[in-house]
Amino acid sequence: MNPIEATDNKVQSDKSPSLVTEKGVKLTAKENRVINFFSDATPFDWEDWRWQLRNRIRTKEVLSKIINLTPEEDFGINDCERKLTMSIPPYFASLMNPDDPTCPIRMQCVPRRFELETSSEEMVDPCGEENHSPVHGLVHRYPDRVLFLVNEMCAMYCRYCTRSRMVGDGNRTLSLDTYNAAFDYIRSNKKIRDVLISGGDPLTLSDRLLEHIIKTLKSIPHIEFVRIGTRVPVTLPQRITFDLVKMFKRYAPIWMSIHFNHPKEISKRVKFACDLLADSGIPMGSQTVLLKGVNDKPAIMKKLMHELLKIRVRPYYIYQCDPILGSKHFRTPVSVGIDIMEKLRGHTTGYAIPTLVIDAPGGGGKIPIGPNYVVSSEGGRHVLRNYAGKQFVYQDPAC
Ligand code: SF4
Repeated sequence: MNPIEATDNKVQSDKSPSLVTEKGVKLTAKENRVINFFSDATPFDWEDWRWQLRNRIRTKEVLSKIINLTPEEDFGINDCERKLTMSIPPYFASLMNPDDPTCPIRMQCVPRRFELETSSEEMVDPCGEENHSPVHGLVHRYPDRVLFLVNEMCAMYCRYCTRSRMVGDGNRTLSLDTYNAAFDYIRSNKKIRDVLISGGDPLTLSDRLLEHIIKTLKSIPHIEFVRIGTRVPVTLPQRITFDLVKMFKRYAPIWMSIHFNHPKEISKRVKFACDLLADSGIPMGSQTVLLKGVNDKPAIMKKLMHELLKIRVRPYYIYQCDPILGSKHFRTPVSVGIDIMEKLRGHTTGYAIPTLVIDAPGGGGKIPIGPNYVVSSEGGRHVLRNYAGKQFVYQDPAC
């Protein structure tokens, strides 16, 4: 069979057996509420990631049965196709508060009219990825590593997506020729030691195609590090099946960067998926986008970082929200992120502290930012302040 195969419509036998037992599947009250809107769907269907993908919520008619839409959302859904399509897996929809428009889950996936308002500083491709793309699907910005955008489809379309210029359900996979051109480029550039597989979301691909990509990359002698960037363990945790992690284990080490934004995303189902990944030896880090109204309060961010450690995901990056078109309602001043970092460092476990970065507009790459702990530096004498504001001196060794 051709390995280049989109997710198909067949229900296969690799449903996550996690919650599927001889006694059935136990759904939460919130999940039961949402599955009831899908006639004839069974809890076994709910646990099937392909069923979740096929039944993503894409229309106002379906969504309005599940949540009470505000005028802003109603307007946003009508016009969102122009910008970024709406698509919400039923599982993720079950996390939404039907009556609270400020619900952080809802704000991330339901279009609002503000998306259609653009500001002068906003850009189609704020990180300048297209300018660093030697062949279609590859972004080569740093000498020793590449970003491999293997598809354009995601399980859920985040309303602040940096790649909203390209993601959508139009092209579920790239062509075989495109993949081969990318592999050839990587093969011929011996300085590349690290490949980040991203998209779209690579975990919306079939196991067979993902394996083809990973296996080919791992067969290149100078590739020592392969990572997968994904939001699927959060929006579609049913995708983390035993078959999938078994395949990852065959190509160990595979690292995973997972996009988490709010403690409410860490459900029991997500914990199960992350346990499966961690137990299979897959090191996980989180990538979080700082979003106004979603996670821009220090207490929420601290709670998120603590919950991540509990599911064995190491907080890795917090990104300042990129200035994509129509993102003003999500973006915070830079000072908000710095204040959050100030309230993390020294106030919680070091492992719970990610790096705050700005992906420099125009293509400068990630630039770390944060509070300044150096009060002064003169003649080898450095006055430093600690998390509590007390000052201490560190003296350089005499030459
Ligand atoms: S999952 Fe990632 S690529 Fe897909 S819409 Fe969300 S932010 Fe964009």
